[in-house]
Amino acid sequence: MVTEIRTINDESLDLANSLLLKGEVVAFPTETVYGLGAWAMSEEGIAKIYKAKGRPSDNPLIVHVCPGFDLSRIVRKIPESAQKLMDAFWPGPMTLIMPKNKAISDHVTGGLDTVAVRMPVDKSAMALLTRTGLPIVAPSANTSGRPSPTTADHVYEDLKGKIPLILDGGACQYGLESTIVDLTVDPPMVLRPGAITMEMLRKVLPDIVEDPTAAAGKSIPANVKPKAPGMKYRHYAPKGHLIVTDQPAAQIKEWMEADMKERPGENFGLIVSTEMADELKELGLIPNDKITVLILGSRSDKAAIAANLFDRLREADEFRLTWFYGEAFERTGMGEAIMNRFLKASAERRLLN
Ligand code: AMP
Ligand code: MG
Repeated sequence: MVTEIRTINDESLDLANSLLLKGEVVAFPTETVYGLGAWAMSEEGIAKIYKAKGRPSDNPLIVHVCPGFDLSRIVRKIPESAQKLMDAFWPGPMTLIMPKNKAISDHVTGGLDTVAVRMPVDKSAMALLTRTGLPIVAPSANTSGRPSPTTADHVYEDLKGKIPLILDGGACQYGLESTIVDLTVDPPMVLRPGAITMEMLRKVLPDIVEDPTAAAGKSIPANVKPKAPGMKYRHYAPKGHLIVTDQPAAQIKEWMEADMKERPGENFGLIVSTEMADELKELGLIPNDKITVLILGSRSDKAAIAANLFDRLREADEFRLTWFYGEAFERTGMGEAIMNRFLKASAERRLLN
């Protein structure tokens, strides 16, 4: 199959519409990451999503809808708490788990009695959803296990030859997947951190709690299962050995110098902030032609770090890094989502805080 990449205009949206109605899949941008979409009522389309991604069938999909969409078509009952969150944060990077109704197939929900729903704010996603008027199921448009795609090129890298169309709307604004909130439990629970942070959610629902299995870096008892089925899988993983650490530049330098003596066959690297790179320069570790330095952005700009994270993890593979250190960030605001993804991508953690 030839995979076309098209900019978004009336013609490409019409093509997307006809493909979706035929039971095909289409990749499209959102403000979080690129999604691989199918019409939520097309069993054929849904099956193609799982196949193209190599996604485990118990990992349910998020249904995307446009403003004005009648939620009673897919949701059995809208909890009051859900309505409050929708009023505050939709359209936007927040997914709500609500009781599903019969129109939503078990293949969308992985057999669960609940359905995940989101109304994206990105103008390209909005254009596709309003033009088609369809509810569109869409997981991230990557091969399962790889970093989520934040550009059309990332989607092409993973899915070329497997899907007919990628709508190209440029780089994603946030670059991390949506915040997921479960409103079928009391108190409401955040299953996956994202750009809508705990602080923001608490202002609307003061009693909201965080699924302890979703919180970054906290120790999780082995018998506790994450509530969002997808969170149990290893994710975002580059091929090499990524060590995420919150230790200072001097410690990273010491480890790296020892590694370079003891592991001469490795391809070394760093995924760090501009500030950390400056400190490592002052200490004399870099520049070094044996160490590839991938910069995430300034520590003071968490939005930039989030937006760059998946791209830098993909670059680590392009540079064939086999042994590299990643800098941990403070878990305030977007930092919680950044660390959730970074730690899931890592092979090893060296964290004191
Ligand atoms: P992705 O679209 O790749 O961001 O993955 C969607 C995420 O939403 C996965 O982690 C799923 O496990 C989660 N999810 C989807 N539907 C539900 C649901 N009904 N209950 C809990 N989690 C869900
Ligand atoms: Mg995903």
